[in-house]
Amino acid sequence: MLNYRTDLEKMPSYDGVEKDYKIKVNANESTLNLPPLVTERVFNRLSHVSFNRYPSEEYYSLVEQIAKNFSVAPEQILLGNGSSEIIEKIFYAFGGGNKIVYPVPSFSMYKIYAKAAEAEGVEFLLDEKFDLDVEKFIVQVKNSGANLAVICNPNNPTGNFLTVAQVEKIASSIDCAFLLDEAYIEFYGQTAVGLVKKYPNLIVARTFSKAYGLAGARIGYMIANSEVAKMIGKTFMPYHMNSLSLATADIVYQMRDEFVPRIQMLIAERERMFERLKKFPALEVFPSKTNFLLIRLPKADALNNYLESLDIGVRFFSASPVLGNCLRISIGTRPENDEVFDAIKNFLEAEQ
Ligand SMILES: *Cc1c(COP(=O)(O)O)cnc(C)c1O
Repeated sequence: MLNYRTDLEKMPSYDGVEKDYKIKVNANESTLNLPPLVTERVFNRLSHVSFNRYPSEEYYSLVEQIAKNFSVAPEQILLGNGSSEIIEKIFYAFGGGNKIVYPVPSFSMYKIYAKAAEAEGVEFLLDEKFDLDVEKFIVQVKNSGANLAVICNPNNPTGNFLTVAQVEKIASSIDCAFLLDEAYIEFYGQTAVGLVKKYPNLIVARTFSKAYGLAGARIGYMIANSEVAKMIGKTFMPYHMNSLSLATADIVYQMRDEFVPRIQMLIAERERMFERLKKFPALEVFPSKTNFLLIRLPKADALNNYLESLDIGVRFFSASPVLGNCLRISIGTRPENDEVFDAIKNFLEAEQ
């Protein structure tokens, strides 16, 4: 028997299933690969990568582009292997025996990162509509004496959102660090990055994995006050990013206008699916500003099994009591969405 560190045994694992489906709408990825024009430029760029050198040029080129886009200094930006790495490191930077407050239900990894950082995770419960009561959240953050408060906006897996004014209310009312996870912001459009100048406790995390279809390259970033970024930067390994992914993301970011039509298509599809699903009295569908919809119905388990039998993969939260009877369905292409809808319709009709 090997002796592992204390509590590793009890640490939960990420319960996402990475399996291939005919229709894979379980992980909020982009259903489309990169636009062909972008792929061509990426391959051209990759042929110039200095494989023999540690990544530097590629790292700073992307940082400078992002800094320019948000009119911030390059020192305010850190890149990560997906925003997952960014979030993990922020938890390390503020955790270590201290408290970290995050809403429940939200991104399931917050709890795991808190444990990994040896922090005490403090759960803030969303209301029955999965909305976050801003005043109560502020009170809980203050009363707990936490070092870090985390909010995912718009929220995964519920789809609901806070306005920039609500985010500002929180940033201005709490004294501790405030991480805003904007993984789905492109499907909402109301970023709070502009508040970073005014509130040095605010840290905004973003990703290329959702709207920019780059989940496979693992690229994320954060924008914060430069002193804060410097402190968080201490928790990263040297040369933690690889040149291939950085060069890829550099091109994708340069060509981000190419993604606007597909983001608009996805938003339109989300609204179309929402309207159609809303008509079923047997299920509840939550309004969403993301690239997925959350539905709740008493027979969620059976519906999940039925979809599985059709080789359609959705996300079922069997392990989470607050998400009892909920399924999360990512938005795909119009034909994919139609197939998912028809399957749900057939299931509900057979149930009657
Ligand atoms: C998908 C997701 C992320 C990060 O994904 P990466 O691929 O690591 O960038 C972060 N937060 C939330 C809430 C997500 O859903």
